[in-house]
Amino acid sequence: MLPFLAPLKESIWLRVTLLSLTSSFLAVVLWIVGDNFLPVNGIMLALSVGAACLALSVVVGKVVANYALQATDFLSKAILLVTRAESTVESPDPNALAAPSRAFLQSLATNIYSLGSASASANYAQSTSGSFFETLAHTIALPIIVLNKEQSISFINQAALDYFALSSESVIGKPLYDVLDLSFVSSLTLESWVKESSNSRVTATEVWERVRRTKEDGTRNQFDMAAHYSKDDANGIEVTLALFDRTRHYERDDHDLTFVALAVHELRTPLTIMRGYIEVFEDEISESLNPEQTAFMHNMSASAQQLTAFVANILNVARVEENALTVRLKEEKWPDVLLGACKDMELRASVHNKKLVYKIAENLPTAAVDKVSIYEVLNNLLDNAVKYTHTDEDIEVATYEKDGFIETTVTDRGVGIPESLIGHVFDKFYRAHQSKNSVGGTGLGLFLSRSIITAHGGTIWVKSKEGEGSTFGFTIPIYANVANQIKNEDNGEIVRGAHGWIKNHSYYRG
Ligand code: ADP
Repeated sequence: MLPFLAPLKESIWLRVTLLSLTSSFLAVVLWIVGDNFLPVNGIMLALSVGAACLALSVVVGKVVANYALQATDFLSKAILLVTRAESTVESPDPNALAAPSRAFLQSLATNIYSLGSASASANYAQSTSGSFFETLAHTIALPIIVLNKEQSISFINQAALDYFALSSESVIGKPLYDVLDLSFVSSLTLESWVKESSNSRVTATEVWERVRRTKEDGTRNQFDMAAHYSKDDANGIEVTLALFDRTRHYERDDHDLTFVALAVHELRTPLTIMRGYIEVFEDEISESLNPEQTAFMHNMSASAQQLTAFVANILNVARVEENALTVRLKEEKWPDVLLGACKDMELRASVHNKKLVYKIAENLPTAAVDKVSIYEVLNNLLDNAVKYTHTDEDIEVATYEKDGFIETTVTDRGVGIPESLIGHVFDKFYRAHQSKNSVGGTGLGLFLSRSIITAHGGTIWVKSKEGEGSTFGFTIPIYANVANQIKNEDNGEIVRGAHGWIKNHSYYRG
């Protein structure tokens, strides 16, 4: 017998011995009492003592039997539970066990449970072998790609191979970024997300809209993409990607944009003529106008200006799409450029009862900017500050030197942007705010601004709190820092393309 069972055996032995002794003692006592004090004859006495001893033995015997069977009951329940032989069996409670065998039985039950889970996972592994999963993944009509820790493709299903017109041999084991040149509309690329997740998360999921991949023949796949990240996965799977083809849907948007751009282009000439006449009127007849007429004139001028900015935005976004928007960086006195752009917006701000206030650092070095493009960035930021502030609060424009760049900020005390949406405001067509139904806009202004600032070699950012206001900021290079490049160019200017799409691999960024 196992030595661990000795205490249990002794405890049962003790109980049975005690029972025998107690009933013998009781029999003797009953006999003496009956013989000396009760008026019963010998036979009756013997029968009564015998019956009393029998009743006592039945009760105590049952208690001892229950006690002795506790261990068997405990183990049987544990076994039935892990084998799932009985669906109604409840899990055994070690606390109900008597002390002598509790620790041992508990450890025995733990072993039974681990044996049970080992056999369950062996069964599961057998029923879901590699081929089962592979067959399943290949029959799903959704492109799926699995990446290992090195971001190389460890599995790609048939739907993904068909979608990208690739062969399995040419992609398995290759880094994803070499095989698929993905572009994203926001700065959160797959690569940056994986890097970020590996630093701070055990598992993570993310969804991208409008991911683009241009094929060798120039045609594009456009899709939404869902990714799951898992650190230290036992099977070496780090990232799983599921792709949802939206090529036709997004192409329709792009065609619409091209069409709108063509239509809008036709507005340019009449608009320029109108603005010319408004300016002439302002110069020639402003003194003879009464205050109401002056206000009308201001409204007209501000609206024509807004329409001009809208036309410029649409045309430029279409150019960004075709990679045809370029910036020409030249040496400029930044406060002059900035104030020039702001002066035009002052009128629009005043029509909405707002004032622009300036904080311009002194002795700023000259900047390398494309005046026309940067005008559009400022126009978009100031226009948003006016649009999304429904009170008369001032709008503050500040500029200063920072970390080898010139930084400019536009701060409003308007409606602000909810934290969950802030990461998307620079995405194409994105309109975050609830006020989007009441405030006009296209969701293109910040997308375009980001493209222009990136082409300048700067960065654009936003800080905002819902209900309190927003600060949009951007940096442009100090002329002296890029002067060498400019001198090497033919016309004394740097020409750069403004890309609306950010390539996945950092190698391509810029
Ligand atoms: P829109 O034409 O809609 O203004 P933008 O690209 O300029 O497009 O801005 C994108 C979205 O960002 C806006 O729809 C708005 O929800 C939010 N946004 C931009 N600027 C501000 C601001 N100053 N205050 C609050 N929300 C803003």
